[in-house]
Amino acid sequence: KVRVRFAPSPTGPLHIGGVRTALFNYLYAKKHKGDFILRIEDTDQNRYVEGAEQYIIDALNWCNIPYDEGPGKDGRYGPYRQSERKELYQKYADSLIEKGHAYYAFDTSENLDFHRKDHEEKGKTFIYNYHNRLKLSNSLSLSPEETKAKIQAGEEYVIRFKTPQDAELHLTDLIRGDIKIDTNTLDDKVLFKSDGMPTYHLANIVDDHLMDITHVIRGEEWLPSLALHQQLYDAFGWEAPKFAHLPLIMKPVGKGKLSKRDGEKMGFPVFPLTWNNSIGYREAGYFPEAVTNFLALLGWNPGTEQEIFSLEELVSAFSLERVNKSGARFDPDKTKWYNQHYMQIQDNTDLANAFMLMLKNKGLDIPKDKNNADYVKQVVALIKERATFVNDFWELGNYFFLAPSVYDEKAVKKQWKEDTAAIMTQLLSLLEGTDNFGSENLETQVKQWISENDLSFGKVMPPLRLVIVGEMKGPHIFDIMALIGKTDCINRIKTAIA
Ligand code: GLU
Repeated sequence: KVRVRFAPSPTGPLHIGGVRTALFNYLYAKKHKGDFILRIEDTDQNRYVEGAEQYIIDALNWCNIPYDEGPGKDGRYGPYRQSERKELYQKYADSLIEKGHAYYAFDTSENLDFHRKDHEEKGKTFIYNYHNRLKLSNSLSLSPEETKAKIQAGEEYVIRFKTPQDAELHLTDLIRGDIKIDTNTLDDKVLFKSDGMPTYHLANIVDDHLMDITHVIRGEEWLPSLALHQQLYDAFGWEAPKFAHLPLIMKPVGKGKLSKRDGEKMGFPVFPLTWNNSIGYREAGYFPEAVTNFLALLGWNPGTEQEIFSLEELVSAFSLERVNKSGARFDPDKTKWYNQHYMQIQDNTDLANAFMLMLKNKGLDIPKDKNNADYVKQVVALIKERATFVNDFWELGNYFFLAPSVYDEKAVKKQWKEDTAAIMTQLLSLLEGTDNFGSENLETQVKQWISENDLSFGKVMPPLRLVIVGEMKGPHIFDIMALIGKTDCINRIKTAIA
């Protein structure tokens, strides 16, 4: 059975790159009727941020990609927070030492800094491996008795992996294919610290093994760790899961990874939900369907021209074979385009409720007959075609609630001719005599009146729109007039010609 995991460290809010990783894991799990696990990697207590774990959970739920197992949803593999699994890791570190795959190191940070600087001055890079091991303070350069004595004396130590010398590693990534690594370029990474906590590398491998993870799908920034991880599996004698490293998400322009600062500079969210002062997608008015749809296409392609995918469609179309190797450029305009698309298929009652809340918050004195769910719903149906966000509704539809208080100057200059007032007066009496204010009937009446009076469309329709709306925008004018109603239309024309 396929078992995948999303394994964030709770060091702050989830960046959308993290959400994309979670999404791809979710899609892969669901496609293969497998399990999607959330594991909180909180072994580095210095980087722990209060509230970050809840943020991660809320973000996954908002995106409609909930986990099957994880904090609060126990399966057979819990606990799912590494800090609660603390006791477990020591014996694995010890077993690596016993097998000769790891060793104790007692170097102080001052000593390591000294060696780094010393190398730098000579134009070399310091690598803690066979090059330098014997010059440093560790159990490989000490006798077993000396090592034991140091530990017993309470000296601080770490446990390092002993990278083999002169070997070639053959790694496989489902997206990148075969990768060869010369072990002499690798350093002896720390696996365990004297505070009794494992490092990310050890805890990650032990947990993926104990949790029966079959596929590790994660960001490209972890690709350099793959060599160590594969060696750890081999050292333990465990079968490694399959690995897939997802391409980076790149800035909209220029080079490099998308960062929080790009969002701040260019004014788009990079977090799913608001965190401190950074507005998230949810609060900016994005629909979760739009977010998962655009994220899915950041690094994956269906092999067809199709761009719109529901979550179910993504599940059935998704495959790791179609994940790209190269970085995926983030396009904020495209995310808006997606939102506008999903706006059209939102339920109008929901949209009307959100809009009414906005109207209420504006504290405007909107007449009762225009401030009820039914009316607002009809307004939404007319204006949403042009809206990207619910927040656009007021800008697009304020005239449905309040008569224009000013008229667009340029439009007045262009549309208001010498005879316009007289024409509007005539139109006024036509409307006063019309009882059926349905859009179609209005249109028939007005068109008939235009042709009977030898008027032209251009003389009537633009000024009529100006008078009703205040500017030259909006949906079909007769739809607008039908909705705001006879009394209001008549009043607006009267005001304009007074
Ligand atoms: N804890 C790592 C992170 O924060 C997990 C990397 C992995 O998936 O192996 O991204």
